[in-house]
Amino acid sequence: MRSPIHETNDALPIVILGGGFGGLFTALHLRDLHSCPIILIDQSWSFVFKPLLYELLTSEVKLELICPRYDQLLHNSGITFVLGTVEAIDLDQKQVELDSGLKYSYRHLVLALGSTTSYLGIPGAKEHTRLFRTAYDVFALAQHLRNRLQIATQTEDITERLALLTVVIVGGGASGVEIAATLADLLPTWYIPLGGNPEEIRIVILQRGDDILKESTSDRLRETAKSALKGRNASVEVLLGSEVKEVHPGAVEFERNEQQWRLAAATVLWTTGNATHPVIEALPIAAENRDKRDRLLVKPTLQLPDFPEVFAAGDCAIDPSNPQPATAQVAYQQGAAIAHNIKALINGKSPTPATVNLRGMLMKLGMHESAVEIFDRYEIKGQLGQAIRLSTYLEFMPTPARNFVNRTGWFAEEILKQIARV
Ligand SMILES: Cc1cc2nc3c(=O)[nH]c(=O)nc-3n(C[C@H](O)[C@H](O)[C@H](O)COP(=O)(O)OP(=O)(O)OC[C@H]3O[C@@H](n4cnc5c(N)ncnc54)[C@H](O)[C@@H]3O)c2cc1C
Repeated sequence: MRSPIHETNDALPIVILGGGFGGLFTALHLRDLHSCPIILIDQSWSFVFKPLLYELLTSEVKLELICPRYDQLLHNSGITFVLGTVEAIDLDQKQVELDSGLKYSYRHLVLALGSTTSYLGIPGAKEHTRLFRTAYDVFALAQHLRNRLQIATQTEDITERLALLTVVIVGGGASGVEIAATLADLLPTWYIPLGGNPEEIRIVILQRGDDILKESTSDRLRETAKSALKGRNASVEVLLGSEVKEVHPGAVEFERNEQQWRLAAATVLWTTGNATHPVIEALPIAAENRDKRDRLLVKPTLQLPDFPEVFAAGDCAIDPSNPQPATAQVAYQQGAAIAHNIKALINGKSPTPATVNLRGMLMKLGMHESAVEIFDRYEIKGQLGQAIRLSTYLEFMPTPARNFVNRTGWFAEEILKQIARV
């Protein structure tokens, strides 16, 4: 099947694969480019603001902000949204194929498919753990946890009841710590009205390394996170030096201090192990143009070295001359830089190196609480930290998204509510 616009190379569209932070922001920054059609392809019908998935679980922020629909974000932008799953990319023929069989030829291509999960070859991990990456994961987790709490209220056997009330989190990186702190505050609010004893709730982080947040934060923020984990409404235990060996339905086996342990837990969350997206992995790009994790190496302009018409952003790419963490704040700035460079190329100018400014670390450390570290110097925590974290995310948003939330009025209200609580 031919793509909709096809006659000359100039008439071919800019095709953006993935509508996450990298892809959506590329699209939105291209919306004033009227000389070329733009197509954004995503497998889901709504954007997911992943750093706010915790707030989706707790209902601290409404679904419409965290997962605004692409048709609303792109309304009147002239950008075509295609709902579909990218299956293959032919870089030589400059064509993308979806699982539906639809094909799209392109003039410029933007690769922004994010990353997937690696289960590190651990038996049972894929089958018996839960992820926390999409809105679907969040709703499924909420339903599962509520169900386990309900069953616990009618379980007389103490060993069985404690297993129902135990949540194991594999991975003590930022996501593991944030979800642990969130659940430790949230679960008692669900369990107490059912007549349960919140002291029986147990959240356990299994961390292979000798400390939590090893790669992602400063020493000060790590200490703040540790003390925040101690002050939650349910107990959070951090078991350092724990190597998960196998996951079974309802139990995790791990090695710690040269001993084998088996922990009964009705809920096991997998928050570690980022893997390169299979479509990116399948590209015929030589090993010298990939990093150890198979991510694509890009030039400072975010172009692929051998395919200057192809750009890559976010979790699936890395610029070896200026490596950045795989975060939303990097991906959305790269999206803006790619849009700038595509416009330059279309106007016969040279692309310029992307610049990324890190705004500091923002971490959710419980319900209505965050810690924010700005410019490696200032740390603001607690409810004021949460207000700053939310308002920073509002600032992240591109104009259409901000207009969308402003029109509905509620996001500003959310922030005001947070500030009012301080
Ligand atoms: C729970 C959680 C919390 C986080 N917290 C923070 C934080 O506090 N701060 C921060 O900076 N970063 C945070 N991150 C990391 C951040 O979300 C990612 O680094 C960022 O989303 C990467 O952007 P991206 O555009 O590369 O990929 P994504 O935002 O993941 O977007 C990829 C898009 O591609 C689509 N897609 C994937 N495969 C296909 C396919 N085959 N066909 C079509 N579409 C496809 C997906 O649906 C998705 O929309 C967090 C991540 C998680 C999971």
